[in-house]
Amino acid sequence: METIDLTKLRNYARRTGQPTHPEMLDARPLEHVNKIEIDEEHVTFEFDERTTRYYNLNEIVHREWTYKYNDDPEFVAAIGKVIDLARKHLKDLPENVACPPGCAQCCSGYEPFVSRSDVERIAKHLHMSYDEVMRRYVNERSSADGFHVGWLRKIGDDISDQCVFLMGSKSGRHYCGIYEGRPHDCRDFTPIGCNDVDESLPRATSKFKIGPAFMPKRRGRNPNGKRL
Ligand code: SF4
Ligand code: SF4
Repeated sequence: METIDLTKLRNYARRTGQPTHPEMLDARPLEHVNKIEIDEEHVTFEFDERTTRYYNLNEIVHREWTYKYNDDPEFVAAIGKVIDLARKHLKDLPENVACPPGCAQCCSGYEPFVSRSDVERIAKHLHMSYDEVMRRYVNERSSADGFHVGWLRKIGDDISDQCVFLMGSKSGRHYCGIYEGRPHDCRDFTPIGCNDVDESLPRATSKFKIGPAFMPKRRGRNPNGKRL
């Protein structure tokens, strides 16, 4: 990509044959805009221009058009509007990227890998031994680099079955039963770009009360003598 010295815009326009005013620009190639950059003086479009030739119908040329807009009141007003809109949407951002409470769709269909330290943390959280957590909740498989020791089990064999630690509340929403002890894979999971979000759930947190934490099933008998 060619770098333009914006202080020499006239020279650039003369050299490239590109117009310096919006009304002189053939806007059709701008349907293929790759990038728009705005600074306090210039707006720059990078776009693909298709050139029709007898010998090569598909020739695409990458072009760049720069306009010094800051003494053009119409352009200044338009760019001011774009900046206002960007500010407005930036304010919305935290809402847009938050998961609806109780969604947990990613806790089904997704298999979090666990490292040795993940298993140690889960073991401490559940008051169990490392080996017991591995035996009961982890599909063991060592990775080539030795970092991951396996991935968390699901309640069934189907890929879309839910994680063994996923809990449901009476409200029909779900939550992680070992939240403080969950693996790093789950901590790092981001809702940005998530396609599985359950849009039927309300975003109000006040209506969602999580239930009890995950309790490991103990083998043996309870105090009444019944088998667990
Ligand atoms: S450990 Fe918790 S957060 Fe991770 S997949 Fe299981 S239920 Fe979801
Ligand atoms: S919105 Fe996406 S990332 Fe968030 S809980 Fe739902 S499925 Fe998981």
